[in-house]
Amino acid sequence: MLAPSCRASAVSLQAPAGRGRGLHVQNRERLSQRSASPAVASSSIWVATAFGLSTLVGTRRRWRRSCRLAAVKTAERTALPPKVLSFLQSAGESATSTAAPGKGGNASLEGIRRADMVWQRIKERSARKAQGEDLDPPKQVVRRGETKSSPTGMQSFDVVVCGGTLGILVARALQNEGYSVCIVERGVVRGRDQEWNVNAQELEPLIQQEIISREEADQALQSSWPSSRVGMEGTHAVEFHAGALNAGVSPKVLVDAARRRFEAAGGVIMEQTMLDAIDIFDDGALLQLSQQAEGKVQLRARLVLDAMGAGSPIVAQARNGAPPDAACLVVGTMASGFPAEANKGGDYLYACTPKKGSKKSGHQAFWEAFPSENGGKDGTERTTYYFTYVLPGLDNLPSITNVFEEYVEALPEYQDVRLEQLEVRRALCASFVAYKDSPLPTPFDRVLQVGDAAGIQSPLSFGGFGALCRHLPRLSCAISEALTHDLLKATDLSQINPYLPNLSMQWTMYRSIAQPPEDEPEFVTRMMGGILSASARCGDEVMMPILQDVFSLGSLAPTLASWMSRDPGIIPLFVRSMGVSNVTAALSHLASLTLYTGLSKLEPLLRPYADTLPAAERFQWHRRFEAWKYGSGLDYEH
Ligand SMILES: Cc1cc2nc3c(=O)[nH]c(=O)nc-3n(C[C@H](O)[C@H](O)[C@H](O)COP(=O)(O)OP(=O)(O)OC[C@H]3O[C@@H](n4cnc5c(N)ncnc54)[C@H](O)[C@@H]3O)c2cc1C
Repeated sequence: MLAPSCRASAVSLQAPAGRGRGLHVQNRERLSQRSASPAVASSSIWVATAFGLSTLVGTRRRWRRSCRLAAVKTAERTALPPKVLSFLQSAGESATSTAAPGKGGNASLEGIRRADMVWQRIKERSARKAQGEDLDPPKQVVRRGETKSSPTGMQSFDVVVCGGTLGILVARALQNEGYSVCIVERGVVRGRDQEWNVNAQELEPLIQQEIISREEADQALQSSWPSSRVGMEGTHAVEFHAGALNAGVSPKVLVDAARRRFEAAGGVIMEQTMLDAIDIFDDGALLQLSQQAEGKVQLRARLVLDAMGAGSPIVAQARNGAPPDAACLVVGTMASGFPAEANKGGDYLYACTPKKGSKKSGHQAFWEAFPSENGGKDGTERTTYYFTYVLPGLDNLPSITNVFEEYVEALPEYQDVRLEQLEVRRALCASFVAYKDSPLPTPFDRVLQVGDAAGIQSPLSFGGFGALCRHLPRLSCAISEALTHDLLKATDLSQINPYLPNLSMQWTMYRSIAQPPEDEPEFVTRMMGGILSASARCGDEVMMPILQDVFSLGSLAPTLASWMSRDPGIIPLFVRSMGVSNVTAALSHLASLTLYTGLSKLEPLLRPYADTLPAAERFQWHRRFEAWKYGSGLDYEH
């Protein structure tokens, strides 16, 4: 059964021009009503105390004051410096109102504390590994069942998706293929408030696969602007504008639309339900769950999809507890009070004077900035992100609090504002981790990673939502084919997350940004600015895929040629920053990219032959075709 969405992979991803992207106020009000209570449930004890007080006293004003007080106390526990603290005080209320379960969902001061703890643990483990220590083995979440056949008598589904942020999109795609699907989510299935920035046409696969309708996609597209700036200051300064990353999608509206459709079509959602373990049998998987209300619960599934993000316990087990190879530390805010006139465009990537702000680590810091929700009612709302790439095993790495401090210090000059002008609506932060060996080929029968857990997102842009949209047609086809022919062993499923040379190329670039030559303070801006402006010189066809994380031979070859011919002096520095082994790896990925590009051209000749083969071999060939196409960036359509 290869159902409609498999065919959708052949459909053009062109965006229709001129779609409306207005704010849909009613929709947003309804959504915020629905989402308030779980957010309160997950906030800190201080916030809970504040909330309790406000109920007693019964006035909104006092409630707001106590929330603010609670947030300040939370911030005190994070040891935030006074300047940061006073800047973030106005984020107090969001500590109670915006916590959503996915990555970046906890937009509060408590969120900073938690993100710092997560990052601290990663740093400690990486340092121990670098010193040659044995790390504690991860929890064995996936286990082999003791019998051949799974027990019966519990609710059973074709697919259970664990994690409902991007998981809802995959769940809906498989439901459309005719499978019974259940979502297990430890929190609630709700998108966060903070927008995902994409290009509008990246939503097209969601529409083609009928995950949401075009109208719903238009509602979710809350912000758009004509172009975003790419700029690097310094001796090798560059600045240009491109129509990339120039739209903001509301995860809340998008996830809610997908959820409504999923439930209306009979999909089951189990919220406040935690995956504890999965027992694998020859004929199915048994999920061991803990529910807030019911206690221990079991579900049976033919296939389990792990959509629990980069922190998934299954990923930790699959990677044998290895700490990540890369981490991008991101902080920022969504705040009002920016000059409305200057809030009409975005920054795709901007670096002020070399290494300015990144005092603690000496790493180059970058900015991204966008109008939020089309600037809000008065046009002054803006998101500003500040981030830096690091290698987790190195010494002297900053904490997220350190990076936040740098952000607050550097923001006024970067945006030409005074901090006192701004009212912070949300404080944002995360450590995005990446593994060199990505995507992750599952080592388990009947379990497959999707979303950030799979590692299909670029380590440079951390655009996991955009990456999932791009891969969704391929994923739903492949998963559907695996289910249809019962090809659910690790050897089958691992082919769905294959080696993608263009993604590995991005890792090698990461390496040179995260560990530049110490005596070359401008190396990173010179390299990034040089590459991006070279792609711009080659025209939109070359530049746009690169700006959207899709490296193809057609975009890389002219870019690299133009970059190196303009700045040949960068080559020895580049080699020095990468190290010989990474240069060799980069060249081998480039060779594979070239090979995959050639092989992909053979697909039309090979497909008729492949389609005559028995199911298992046919499945293998189909996955090969996909790996060639996606691994060489030939899936990209502008
Ligand atoms: C500040 C910030 C800005 C970003 N901006 C962009 C952007 O502009 N564009 C873009 O494309 N991406 C962006 N991202 C990345 C994007 O948010 C992630 O790629 C995306 O959230 C990944 O979704 P996921 O579902 O794979 O994982 P997650 O978001 O990590 O969600 C995992 C889900 O699994 C659930 N879960 C975890 N453990 C269990 C368990 N044991 N049992 C049951 N459920 C469990 C969690 O509650 C959660 O709902 C941004 C992220 C951040 C932090």
